[in-house]
Amino acid sequence: MQVPLLDLKDQNAALRPEIEAAIGRVLNTNGFILGSEVAALEDDLAGYCGVKHAIGCASGSDAILLALMALNVGPGDEVITTPYSFFATVSSITRLGATPVFVDIEPEYFNIDPEKIEAKITPRTKAIEPVHLYGQCAAMDAINEIAARYSISVVEDAAQAIGAKDKDRHAGSMSIAGCFSFYPSKNLGGMGDGGFLTTNDEDVAKRLRALRVHGAEERYFHKYIGLNSRLDGFQGAVLRVKLPHLEKWTESRRENAEQYRRLFSEAELGDIVKLPAERDGAYHIYNQFVIRIKGRRDELRSYLTECGIGTDIYYPVPLHLQECFAYLGHKNGDLPESELAARETLALPIFPELRLDQIEYVVDSIAKFFRGSIS
Ligand SMILES: *Cc1c(COP(=O)(O)O)cnc(C)c1O
Repeated sequence: MQVPLLDLKDQNAALRPEIEAAIGRVLNTNGFILGSEVAALEDDLAGYCGVKHAIGCASGSDAILLALMALNVGPGDEVITTPYSFFATVSSITRLGATPVFVDIEPEYFNIDPEKIEAKITPRTKAIEPVHLYGQCAAMDAINEIAARYSISVVEDAAQAIGAKDKDRHAGSMSIAGCFSFYPSKNLGGMGDGGFLTTNDEDVAKRLRALRVHGAEERYFHKYIGLNSRLDGFQGAVLRVKLPHLEKWTESRRENAEQYRRLFSEAELGDIVKLPAERDGAYHIYNQFVIRIKGRRDELRSYLTECGIGTDIYYPVPLHLQECFAYLGHKNGDLPESELAARETLALPIFPELRLDQIEYVVDSIAKFFRGSIS
């Protein structure tokens, strides 16, 4: 049996007639950059995320960059964030000449540990940038409480978390700006690059709309030094076809997670395989289903590859130890929980169309690997 980590073929095949019609609409109207499809998508996304404004842009990476630009983050500023994330979480800070200040993660949830934030606040701290990793919100109450006390802004990297909730508040609605990605492997994926921002603040929304078109509120009159970062009409049209299905896809991911929990518990691997924990009040959308393996993660991964099972490691090198950030002067041991997670985590297939027999095969294969090794 083959179990890919992610397979979009079935999902796209089911929607193909609608997607082709949507692409045809863009061809007919020449709405290639932003345009009416993107505007309609932005309205739908604002509703879906429970915010006043959604603003399309060229990628999730740009969404973070634009959000920090809207807050005037620049040289001399510090932004507190997690080292256990995708690269763009931190490159957006350094691109603006600001300094990332890393805070270690909570090992159960893989998100920034709010208890360790306050010690890192200085007069230069401009913002806190939590990431809702794997589709579960960071501890936003605690983070917002600290931020309010020090008058610091919060920006959510919600690239993996569209539709995730923390006590009925949506990812992207709990800070000044939420940053999302339409990269094809995200829960709402485009057919190319794309992203969007969310905000409830009129002024920030206006700035973001200008910043994505070279900083011009009025064409050829540049108030800011912005970017060229626009969502294109084809992506807008395709995403409008997909968005109405997102809730159902998320429920399928959550059901798949439940099946994993049931099957792993039956396999009695509790001592060896640690399953992802859900925080109280969290609605986890399982962009990734990430287990922890003590000791033999890489060997298990090779074995699963031989079994035809796709897995991945998010992320093998924490960001404070990346070569390009060597100038920050970090060393091994500085952020031990993130470093340990990098050695122990393994993402299993969780996509909505995954079948029960495939999930059974994944768990059986993992059980076989460990039983074989016990004898
Ligand atoms: C995917 C992702 C991004 C970047 O999104 P792109 O659309 O690929 O630029 C940023 N942060 C996190 C946590 C991500 O998973």
